[in-house]
Order: sequence, then structure tokens, then C-alpha cells
Amino acid sequence: ADELVGAVHRLMTVADDRRRMGVRANADMPEDAARARSMGAAGIGLCRTEHMFLGDRRRYVERLILAEGEREREEALEALLPLQRDDFVQILAAMDGLPVTVRLLDPPLHEFLPDLTELSVRVALARERGKEDSGDLRLLQAVRRLHEQNPMLGLRGVRLALVVPGLATMQVRAIAEAAAIRADAGGDPRVEVMIPLVGAVQELELSREDAERTIAEVRQRTGFSAPIPIGTMVELPRAALTAGDIAQVAEFFSFGTNDLTQTTWGFSRDDVEGSFFSAYLEKGVFGASPFESIDVDGVGRLVRIASEEGRASRRDLKLGVCGEHGGDPESVHFFHDVGLDYVSCSAFRVPVARLEAGRAAVLAERTAPTGPMDSDAANASR
Ligand code: PEP
Ligand code: MG
Repeated sequence: ADELVGAVHRLMTVADDRRRMGVRANADMPEDAARARSMGAAGIGLCRTEHMFLGDRRRYVERLILAEGEREREEALEALLPLQRDDFVQILAAMDGLPVTVRLLDPPLHEFLPDLTELSVRVALARERGKEDSGDLRLLQAVRRLHEQNPMLGLRGVRLALVVPGLATMQVRAIAEAAAIRADAGGDPRVEVMIPLVGAVQELELSREDAERTIAEVRQRTGFSAPIPIGTMVELPRAALTAGDIAQVAEFFSFGTNDLTQTTWGFSRDDVEGSFFSAYLEKGVFGASPFESIDVDGVGRLVRIASEEGRASRRDLKLGVCGEHGGDPESVHFFHDVGLDYVSCSAFRVPVARLEAGRAAVLAERTAPTGPMDSDAANASR
């Protein structure tokens, strides 16, 4: 067994020496971050903040979304701020010295609201018994108002940041304050703010302005001065097709290939597995699920377009991927070819991603020079 462990270790060392792409992990909680680090992740590429509000904490977000009037909203935000800040302090401590990309809240709204049918039944039964509850009634009206037929295409991501006053500000403040706390404690926090589901540069401009103002305010109050890059996810075809404009206001792009696959194909990522997918696989419409292995001709082409146009617009634009594909061997090779700086995947897939990123680099060296990029490099070295 020792021999095997030694061989694997040597293999990983060779792969790590050869690979060009970084490998980060997707992690939402401090214990996930620690595991990611132990798997060799060079940072967190995606911290999904909505996952910090599942379970007991769901009611905090519910309270914010349903708040009526400024005062209720302020109170809900004040309750949320210390929870978020503590989470970030712990994650930054676990990943000290490594980049941590924190994504602003991106839940489909229904995940944070009571179920409409259940609530309707409860209200109707109470009414029958003559025991109407005014709180429940108010809740029902609010949930009806916010109900969406397609929540995955609804009030999510940057849309929430622009529509729910104070939400993004609270999150960015928690991020910047956590970084300041870690720096004060002698740490080396390297946090990045990521804005999800952007389809138009204007959305990013507006949310970025707000984030910058908040960060500046925290800097002034705390003296924290390390950079906090602000970037966006590219997970809608429109974002990929307007990447040149978006790159003007983003320091990095992270491809959200889960949503990009959903919106490019028009497949509902939540429903497709149990629906017609097996028939599609059987009939050979595709060889593997495009949610698992990147669809090079469609989704992959959008990734390529966005990478090229993004970099043409901003030379030092950082490019990564944080969808499930970031840990899929074949997709890792594709991302290497496109020229991404890093892939990010769940912690347990990090070793495979490191290995495949190394193999991709070796294979590319063997077949070079071929493309226009390679011949440029060859010319430059002459
Ligand atoms: C994605 O869409 O690929 C992504 C990483 O974000 P999420 O899965 O949280 O929507
Ligand atoms: Mg997404």
C-alpha cells in the first residue's frame, strides 16, 4: 500500500509540475475549504453563499425577501451581516494566502420561500375553521406576488442584487470586513467578489458600482488595503456574446457551465435527468450528458468566444470555470486548449483535475505548434 501511495504521489507531482492551469475547489463552508486545501486545491473558485443559508438559516433570507418597508428590511439585513461575516472569516482563515472567490447570493427564489401550495392549503383550512392567521395571510400574499413559473430563469443572481435593496451591499460589506479582520489577525486574505447570472454589461456596472462604494467605505473604516477583485460569472449566452463589453468592468470571468448548458440547449438542469435524457443518450443525440462533459460545439464555442473577446478587451482578464465540467477529465482538456487560467470543481474531484490538467499540458506540447496561438509563440521565441 505504501508503494502505491508513493507512486500516486509521484504521479501527482509530475502532473503539478507540468500543468499550466490552476485547480481550485468549489466550497461553501469552512470545513469544505479545509478539505479542498488538503486535496491540493490552490484556492476556492466558487463559494456559493446561498448554501450558507440553508437549514435553520433559511428564515433569515425569507425574512429579508418578505420584508415590508425599510425598517423591516434593515433589521433583516442587520441580522444577516454578522452570520455572513463570521462564515467568511472562517473560510478565509482556512484558505489563508490563497484566492477565495465569493459569489453573491444566487438562489432561485422559491428555495427560500414557503411552498405556495402548502401555504395555500394551510390558510384555506384555517379559514374553514374560522381561525384565520393574519401572519399566514400576509405571507401567502407575498409568496403569490413573488411566485414564478420558471424560477431558474427568474429573480436570481445579479437580478436579486439589483432588485432587493441592501442585499448585495450587506454581502460585500461582510466580505470586505471579514478580509479586514483576517488581515488584522496577521493573515493574508485574498478574497474576490463574483457577480452571478449577468447577461448585460449594465447589470454588472450597476452592481459593481455598489460593491466598490461598499469596499471603499470598509477600507476607510478599517485601513484594509489589499485588492478585492470584482468579476462575473459567464453563464448566459448573452454574456458570452457580449464578453468584450463585460470584460471592461470585470477583472475575471468564471464560466458557469451548468447554467450555460441549460440556457444554450434550453434544457432545464433540474428536470432533464429524469425526463427525456435517457432516450436522447440511447438515440445518440449526444454521447454523454452535456451537463457532465462539455458540449464542445455549442457551449464550448461560447466559452471560446467569450475567452477570446474578453481577453481582446482586457489583456489581463483572468479566466476560470466553476461549473461541474471543471472536474470532468475531457472537459479539463478542452479548458486547457481554450487557455483558461484555472478550473474549479468539488473537492473530491480536485486530484483528477490536477492530473488531467497536467496531461493536457503534456499533450499540447507534443502536438504544438499547430494553431495560430502556437505559431505566434514560436515566432516570439525565434
Ligand atoms: C453554474 O451555473 O455552472 C454554476 C457554477 O453556478 P450554479 O451551479 O450555482 O448555478
Ligand atoms: Mg449558475
